[in-house]
Amino acid sequence: MNQHFDAIIVGGGMVGSALAAALGQGGFSVALVESGSEPSAIEDDSFDLRVSSLNLAAQRLLESVGAWSHIPAERRCTFRHIHAWDISGHGETHFDAEALQLDDFGSFVENRVIRKALWQSLAALPGVEPIFGARPLALLTGTERVLVELDNGQMLSGSLVVGADGARSTIRELAGIEVDTRDYGQRALIVNVVTQLPQQDVSWQRFTPQGPQAMLPLPGPHASLVWYGEPEATREREALSDAALREVIEREFPARLGGLKRVTGRASFPIRRQHARHYTASRLALVGDAAHVIHPLAGQGLNLGLQDVTALADLLTNANHAHQDLGAPGPLRRYAWQRRPQTLAMIAATEAFHSVFTGNATLRNAGAAGLAVAERLGPAKQFMMRRALGLR
Ligand SMILES: Cc1cc2nc3c(=O)[nH]c(=O)nc-3n(C[C@H](O)[C@H](O)[C@H](O)COP(=O)(O)OP(=O)(O)OC[C@H]3O[C@@H](n4cnc5c(N)ncnc54)[C@H](O)[C@@H]3O)c2cc1C
Repeated sequence: MNQHFDAIIVGGGMVGSALAAALGQGGFSVALVESGSEPSAIEDDSFDLRVSSLNLAAQRLLESVGAWSHIPAERRCTFRHIHAWDISGHGETHFDAEALQLDDFGSFVENRVIRKALWQSLAALPGVEPIFGARPLALLTGTERVLVELDNGQMLSGSLVVGADGARSTIRELAGIEVDTRDYGQRALIVNVVTQLPQQDVSWQRFTPQGPQAMLPLPGPHASLVWYGEPEATREREALSDAALREVIEREFPARLGGLKRVTGRASFPIRRQHARHYTASRLALVGDAAHVIHPLAGQGLNLGLQDVTALADLLTNANHAHQDLGAPGPLRRYAWQRRPQTLAMIAATEAFHSVFTGNATLRNAGAAGLAVAERLGPAKQFMMRRALGLR
């Protein structure tokens, strides 16, 4: 007899483990299948290259599942100001947390630290069974349950299967769900640096015709720089020595960066958008990057994924209270209705930023004017910001 779970979550990244924690805390039985190994303890004091801005809604979710307290203060950097401007010098906008009666806008935290904190909170949930080093081979969906065959020989039975297995989701593929994609023809070079300036609480971004240049503050004098550009130019920069890369950044980045003490790491990623045509199928839901990958210029990919988690966990909890089958079409349909429009709105916003600021001179002037107008329209600016923070 196969062991039966309320939910089988495939993918134990930040989004899958957050969903497992939310469901486990709600008393559901959950199998969490991860192809990799258990996240290891973070013992070094260097900063990883993958960093995310967690907005206030994401922070609240991490608090509610008991993960936030596992993120040490010395590994997160709170930011209170956001500044964006165009290289032409004709448009700029500032956002201040205080003006929105907030203490801050959120925090920058390394992905590995977020993931480790979530797995620490999972350890206290007996209803969550982690299965490491395994991948799904096949799905068999029936009227009362879904069977997931794993490549380690296990067969799991669940009321629902959730694909949280990232952009190349196997669950999405096994369910035959297609994706729409767009390659932006850009790469993002991420460079970790130690700045001459002390700890900062402002995140800034300058738009150039080749793509944005951004500074994400990390604890102490550390920062993560993101430099978007044409793939070939980006690869050439990535191949430079630490000293040469430092020099190029000091020359090409805005003067407000100040001097750099050193470059401590670099990596580059292709920039593309990917959106699943459906978020659900029979007894199946997609969350996080398995459902949507967006341009990272607004730093909202993980935040969107964590909003999927909150929505799905709430709908399943309501279904459970109403003694409904968790894999019934009703809750899944509501999940897709709630989440697709939110993602589409975010895709439209990031796409508009990308097209306007990397477009021709007329578009760029319009974009610069847009930033200047946004700066003057107080209520519209506040509305935009509240959406980005995941606040209603
Ligand atoms: C350059 C860059 C900068 C970014 N900056 C930000 C930011 O500032 N803020 C923000 O909110 N977002 C940001 N993002 C986006 C964010 O990193 C992603 O949205 C987020 O990592 C997605 O998490 P996930 O858990 O859905 O997927 P993943 O992190 O891809 O996790 C998927 C998990 O599933 C596992 N897995 C994969 N396949 C299988 C399988 N077949 N079986 C079992 N397990 C499997 C993997 O091992 C992994 O653990 C950025 C992205 C990029 C590229």
